[in-house]
Amino acid sequence: MIVLNGTGVSSGIAYGKIRFFRHSKCAVEKISVSDTDREIKRWREAANDASAQLLEMAQRQEGGDAADLFETHRLMLRDPDFVEAIEKEIVESSVNAEAAVEVVGKRFSQMFSSMENDYMRERSADVDDVSNRLINILSGSLEQESGVPTSPVIIAADDLSPSETVLLDRSTILGFILINGSKNSHTAILARNLGIPAIIGIGDKLASELDGRYAVMDGSEGMAVIDPDERMMRELEKKRQHENAQKRRMDALRGKPDVTEDGKNIKVYANIASPADVKYVLENDAAGIGLFRSEFLFLESGSLPTEEQQFEAYSSVLKKMEGREVIIRTLDIGADKNAEYLGLEREHNPELGMRGIRLCLTRPDIFKTQLRALYKASVYGKLLIMFPMVAGLWELIDAKRICREVREELSEKGVAFDEHVPIGIMVETPAAALIADDLAKEADFFSVGTNDLTQYTLAADRQGSALERFYDVAHPAVMRLIEETIRAAHANGIWAGICGESAADTSLTEQFLKMGADEFSVSPKTILPLRGAVRSGKAY
Ligand code: PEP
Ligand code: MG
Repeated sequence: MIVLNGTGVSSGIAYGKIRFFRHSKCAVEKISVSDTDREIKRWREAANDASAQLLEMAQRQEGGDAADLFETHRLMLRDPDFVEAIEKEIVESSVNAEAAVEVVGKRFSQMFSSMENDYMRERSADVDDVSNRLINILSGSLEQESGVPTSPVIIAADDLSPSETVLLDRSTILGFILINGSKNSHTAILARNLGIPAIIGIGDKLASELDGRYAVMDGSEGMAVIDPDERMMRELEKKRQHENAQKRRMDALRGKPDVTEDGKNIKVYANIASPADVKYVLENDAAGIGLFRSEFLFLESGSLPTEEQQFEAYSSVLKKMEGREVIIRTLDIGADKNAEYLGLEREHNPELGMRGIRLCLTRPDIFKTQLRALYKASVYGKLLIMFPMVAGLWELIDAKRICREVREELSEKGVAFDEHVPIGIMVETPAAALIADDLAKEADFFSVGTNDLTQYTLAADRQGSALERFYDVAHPAVMRLIEETIRAAHANGIWAGICGESAADTSLTEQFLKMGADEFSVSPKTILPLRGAVRSGKAY
């Protein structure tokens, strides 16, 4: 029995033969050429063929992440910098198209992999993927045997490119175990979407000698066992039955209303970080979006997203949610979320520094651009705007004044927008909870951010792993502040929800319901378990 440990990125139990995936990339031969025009023509034809292949693959996916991914690859093929670099390489180095694609592909891939932002770093796998596709087309190696299996196996590999992953036939894959890989890579995301167990980062212990051996894997624990003994098999079989029963129970909650046993309607909403996450919101049957962390749009790019880019992002979410409520939180940058291009001063204590609404009030240019994009998008659905990190009444009043100015400017220009977009705040500082009565007179709703509220109430850094037992989300002081916030909201005729991680902790649901919570916003995969807890809980 050999035990391999890695990081579980998609849960589930699988048992079967290991099959090592062979990449179909062929070796590139560098050839000096005199007719560079011919090579440019060959590369352009290959780019057209690659684009057609990707379009067909995207259409086969019928939407979703995989389709978006192939579309991104198609855009890369037309990227002016990429195109220009390849043609320049052919002409200046007098080389064949294959060699030029390989050199330029590597350069772009390295450029992405050296970026600080995780998302951008992971795009280097996409560049590799596009370059391999082009090289395969140019060298006519499309028919070459690939590692695609025909009978059900656990796929083992150093790493898999996104297009290798989606090309695999779902019915032949029991699970993925990877030597490398990253949690946020598309392979991990696609595995989760497909509901296939996956483990990444196993390291060199996962050697090709293991090809053909039997293994059992547990995607939630991040553990794979080669040649498991009977005891191990029995244990994991029991766990599998338990997971399947749990999943069936959860599936049965789809389409059911979010109403407590004693009849209170609750909003069970989802948290998202990007428009692509809406897919998971819909898949998990959430009734709305309770927190769109808009700052991720700012973190994903190397410069401030333009008003147009933001408008695209916000309106696409609103459209996809088809009239259901979408609460978009304005920029909450600062503390652990820093964008270098903003050139913010280094702070001694960033958690207590220029973050959230403080940054927006200090940089009204950035704030106004975001608000313009939000109001313009508001005609596409049911938008609610929410400010983060409010500590004082004047901050809310000032932010609302800026919203009013933006609305007036849009009206003057004759731009359509929803005049009645509700404006709420996150209650995530003890100060906000303690003056909730005053804030409730100015806000249309409250959403308690328990992650920060716990950190600031208990003076315990939410990121410090050594502080875990001191960072207690159910500490009586935190619970009292939440209760006070909800009481003040109701006394002033507005609703209050909870959107920090503890909103998904079903052992706390009943307490929150008893306090009067009207809404919960949680990560999409915890929607159905929370619905179960709400439906069996009592609010009165
Ligand atoms: C919170 O603080 O609870 C919250 C939801 O906001 P974030 O985790 O993005 O700080
Ligand atoms: Mg917060």
